Amino acid sequence: MRKKGVFVEVVCARCKHKQVVFGKASTFVKCENCGKLLVRPKGGKSKIKSFVRRVLK
Ligand SMILES: [Zn+2]
Repeated sequence: MRKKGVFVEVVCARCKHKQVVFGKASTFVKCENCGKLLVRPKGGKSKIKSFVRRVLK
C-alpha cells in the first residue's frame, strides 16, 4: 500500500536537537536550533541527512 508520506523524527547530528519533519518534504529543512541542514529534497523523496529516531504514522 502506497503512503502519501510520513513524518519522521530526526535528531540533529550537531546539536542533538529533536525535530519532526515531513518524510517527503520538497524543501530544505534546517535544524531549528543550530541551522544545520537536516533534509534535502531528492527526486520527490527526501534525503534525510541526520539520524532518524522514529517514524510517526
Ligand atoms: Zn542542530
